[in-house]
Amino acid sequence: MTQELVATRFGGFPTAEEGETWPLCDGCADDLTFVAQVDHSRDGLHDRLPISFFTFFYCWKCHPWGRRRELGGWLVRSYTALRHPKVLVHGTEPDFEECHAVPRLEKSLPDAVGMCLHCPELWDLVPGDSGSPEAWANWRVVDRAALGLTQGRARAPHMRNVAVALGGYPHWANGGDETPVCTQCILPMELLLQIPPSELTDAMWGDVGTLYLFMCRVHTQQTGLRIQCT
Ligand SMILES: [Zn+2]
Ligand SMILES: [Zn+2]
Repeated sequence: MTQELVATRFGGFPTAEEGETWPLCDGCADDLTFVAQVDHSRDGLHDRLPISFFTFFYCWKCHPWGRRRELGGWLVRSYTALRHPKVLVHGTEPDFEECHAVPRLEKSLPDAVGMCLHCPELWDLVPGDSGSPEAWANWRVVDRAALGLTQGRARAPHMRNVAVALGGYPHWANGGDETPVCTQCILPMELLLQIPPSELTDAMWGDVGTLYLFMCRVHTQQTGLRIQCT
């Protein structure tokens, strides 16, 4: 029963701790919209964070465009354990239709943009000045190294995380790495959830926006949001 309550899903109604109420937007004080919940302890990709479960809410009225607003307009509720999980019903119909996902628990590799930050040992194998324009021409070297790391599975490692990702590494849809840093420890945060346009949800961020949700590995109350549009 508990397992079902905390199952990873997009849309429908979220699971919360008994007694918790529907979250309000700290920007406009209106109800937030439930987007997704993730059974992180079961479905999170490798290098899991010290939480077991989280829910994610967003405000389309405030529509925070990650970079400019660290606070307001969205919320992550995370839990190390749910003592009395309960479905939090709100209104008669959920904002988005309930959809389920079956995760592929494989090793995730960063894409070209995130390689330098997330995988320096791999990036160091790129000849020349790592990160320089010349280095982009050496993808075969990176591919070969990635094949070694994944025992031959990831032929195109930089394409691995293009889809909905429950952790692992972000795949930046358009532009440079925007991984936020924790304001407490100044270390880069870890990816919690990446939602590109997908059949899993009708939630949209701009025309073709991809949403990235981050959390500090140590300070789990510190979360970050980024959006990139193609
Ligand atoms: Zn709002
Ligand atoms: Zn931190």
